[in-house]
Amino acid sequence: MARVQGKKDEKTKVSADSWKKAGRIFSYLKEYRWRFAFGLALLFASSITTLIVPRLMGQMAGIGIPSGTSSDWSIDFGALSLDMMNLNTVALVLFGIFLLQALISFLKVYVFSFVTEHMMRDLRKDVFAHMIRLPMSFFVEQRVGDLNSRISADIASIQETFNITLSEFIRQIIIIILGVGFLFYSSPSLTFVMLITLPIIMIVAVIFGRFIRKLSRKTQDLVAESNVVVQESLTGIVNVKSFTNEFFETLKYATNVNEVKKIAIKSGVWRGLFSAFIIIFIFGAIGLVILQGAKLMELPATDPDHLDPALFFSFLLYTVMIAASFGGIANQYSAIQRAVGSVERVLDILEEDIEPLPADKRVSQLEKLNGHIEIKNLHFTYPSRPDVQILKGIDLSILPGQQVAVVGPSGSGKSTLAALILQFYNPNQGNISFDELPAKEYELYDLRSQMAYVPQDIILFGGTVRENIAYGNTDASEIEIIDAAKKANAWEFIFKSPDGLDTIVGDRGIQLSGGQKQRIAIARALLKDPSILILDEATSSLDSESEQLVQMALDNLMKGRTSLVIAHRLSTIRKADKILVLDQGKIAELGTHEELIANKEGLYSNLSRLQYQEA
Ligand code: ADP
Repeated sequence: MARVQGKKDEKTKVSADSWKKAGRIFSYLKEYRWRFAFGLALLFASSITTLIVPRLMGQMAGIGIPSGTSSDWSIDFGALSLDMMNLNTVALVLFGIFLLQALISFLKVYVFSFVTEHMMRDLRKDVFAHMIRLPMSFFVEQRVGDLNSRISADIASIQETFNITLSEFIRQIIIIILGVGFLFYSSPSLTFVMLITLPIIMIVAVIFGRFIRKLSRKTQDLVAESNVVVQESLTGIVNVKSFTNEFFETLKYATNVNEVKKIAIKSGVWRGLFSAFIIIFIFGAIGLVILQGAKLMELPATDPDHLDPALFFSFLLYTVMIAASFGGIANQYSAIQRAVGSVERVLDILEEDIEPLPADKRVSQLEKLNGHIEIKNLHFTYPSRPDVQILKGIDLSILPGQQVAVVGPSGSGKSTLAALILQFYNPNQGNISFDELPAKEYELYDLRSQMAYVPQDIILFGGTVRENIAYGNTDASEIEIIDAAKKANAWEFIFKSPDGLDTIVGDRGIQLSGGQKQRIAIARALLKDPSILILDEATSSLDSESEQLVQMALDNLMKGRTSLVIAHRLSTIRKADKILVLDQGKIAELGTHEELIANKEGLYSNLSRLQYQEA
């Protein structure tokens, strides 16, 4: 979060850089560039047809004025000659233009959405594929909600820009440039009058636009902040309820949304003033132009400054059109700027270094490890807290098939040690070898595919029981899945539920007990068939029958594998080959249960006595 916030604050300063960086989003356009070019051509065509309309409408109105000064106008298409002084002909041409414009608009919308949706699919895929391969150190620093919003809200804003805003922006620019060109052609002096008013609107619009953009960015940030409150209190609803802190969360949220309201209203007021200004200037400009135009129409037809009524009507319509385009362009520009921010945030993710993991399915090149782990002089500090040393020189040798238990007070570094074996982080000093080779000699994917981790809090996905078990090996056959479930003591309860392996887990299906979840997680690990197992024993005590089932499943799982068990209840680790007692990141004791318990003053004996008293 801190990282993201920092970048947001810097954004106003590095806007030139931001633009440059955001430009890289166009690499996603590459594959579809010809279609995009076609879309641009359609856009150009639709702008031209839009621009023809005021001229024709002006002509119709001009014909109606029997001043006799209107110059003849006819259009020649080879054999076809159109008398544009005939009201019906003009109306017919106008209708034809509308039909053409309708067709072009349809095609334009289709082409742009085709290109945009393809681009967004590619971008979403890339961002997610990248995100999921980022190292653990990234995830501990970021809030899930924030990452989530990058893939949803930020990409939605990019999508909107490519789909609509960008093409509208380009269209308005074409209209302004060609429209002003037409104005000059029809009456340079009147154009001059108009142009001394338009720049004022522009300047006001830009200044206003900037200010409003700042306010709306602030609103967005505040909304995101309030969403975090909702998300965190809902995901942590157990905490909220058990601490009866509903009022506290409500207050927090209320303060947040109140702030949102204040800023949003402020932004609303300024937006209102903005449109008021635009209106004044547009009407002001029109009034001035009409006055001047009327004078020019009064001049005799022979005067070079004389203005034809048809051209004058067209002129007015163009003025309105151009002014509206100026008004719209400010909004579109600010929307594009917002999108630049979104692009930046999304590309930031793509620039983070990922773990060297394959994006596509890969078959491990590694033969099965024996499971010999050698840890030498391991030192570690978390990247987010470089001043606190968590592991301070751990040496440990685990022979193939051995079971090593790690115990120690909470915060002593047990989970950190497990995380380092799983290669979630790199040690600051020392190293871990697997089968006599240092970890970095292996491909990360190959190494991790030989390990399984059964965490304390088992998280099952919202799919079926089958999918949850097969997560251990997505290629597993039905027979292998059932076999794993049987070994994990999970088959009986799966078999008994009406849908068997296809039973839906979680909110939309059966709610599994803690012990059942653990057995599914064990089945998942069994299916992976790893050489090395890392178990974080659940602290929540299961009922004794359930505990026995889980313990038997664990024994099955550990059979023939090297395992590291983070133990919270000492009763389960008596049979361990070695027990490592950690204290403040150092090895306090190392030995078998009998050896450690013999040392009456030792930490292990102390912990053991404490637990015995509790029980
Ligand atoms: P244990 O598993 O023995 O309870 P941990 O390995 O979880 O201990 O934690 C050891 C120390 O490392 C604790 O002081 C904890 O606050 C700190 N710690 C754990 N995870 C992180 C993290 N992601 N970033 C910074 N510090 C952490």
